[in-house]
Amino acid sequence: MPEGNEIHRWAERHAAAFAGRPVRVDGPQGRFTDSDVLDGRKLLRVMAVGKHLGYDFGKDRILHIHLGLQGDFTEGSGPLKEVRGALRLRMWNAAKVKRPAVPGVSKRHAWYSSDDGTGHLRPEEIAWVELRGPMDCSIYTNAKWDELLKRLGPDPLNGDSPDRAIAKIAKSRKAIGILLMEQDVIAGIGNIYRAELLHRARLSPFTPGKDVPVATLRNIWKDAGPLMRAGMVDRRIVTTLRKDRMKKVAKAQIDDEHYVYRRNGKDCRICAVAVKKLEGFAGRNLFWCPGCQAG
Ligand SMILES: [Zn+2]
Repeated sequence: MPEGNEIHRWAERHAAAFAGRPVRVDGPQGRFTDSDVLDGRKLLRVMAVGKHLGYDFGKDRILHIHLGLQGDFTEGSGPLKEVRGALRLRMWNAAKVKRPAVPGVSKRHAWYSSDDGTGHLRPEEIAWVELRGPMDCSIYTNAKWDELLKRLGPDPLNGDSPDRAIAKIAKSRKAIGILLMEQDVIAGIGNIYRAELLHRARLSPFTPGKDVPVATLRNIWKDAGPLMRAGMVDRRIVTTLRKDRMKKVAKAQIDDEHYVYRRNGKDCRICAVAVKKLEGFAGRNLFWCPGCQAG
């Protein structure tokens, strides 16, 4: 599932591509039937909070998208492509599609790989976007968007204060490894950042929230913002410091990107104890090092 870094990246790219102009919208698959209330309207801005995207078309119309586990965008330049597969929504710039500035290119976006398929297009070159398989694609009123914001915890990528998150964690008996995944505690952290942030803090994922020192929580928050921002820019999630990599090069190799995520059975980069995996911890596999993260 895409984490906050990727959602914020889409918001930034789609704002650069479409905001400030009228945008064409349709729902070729027939499952998004409200496209006509957006089609041809000016897109004012694109908002991102946690794992939610909001395309603000003004007049109390916000297109809400949550990608969920399966959802993904494909971006392209040049003419629209033939409609294929379960295409929930398309958004395009009519002039750019008719008179492409660059020859049409697009690549199927592949989430979480060293080339995620978006590197070939600068945001201002994007003429169209296709959305497939989202968990939600629907129109929100401003009030409904505000309710969502109230329900979600602070987002490390939005310059929010961590105080609400810290207060919630400090009251909870639930394990910190579960709390970090709860979007009403902190918005935008998913399975990779959960595992990596806890390892970087040398904190056991099983520690009850109320037993984690507030200073440690503040440090995790401070660590999360820059790490997630780097994930937005790099189009990959790299959490290792250069000194902890097998190959001490500036650009981490694929097998050097993480401390614990999907490294079960391998030696911890710090203490050489074998990294462990536990299935279904807050619904997802948990990875941690019993050596560094004993307490
Ligand atoms: Zn370790």
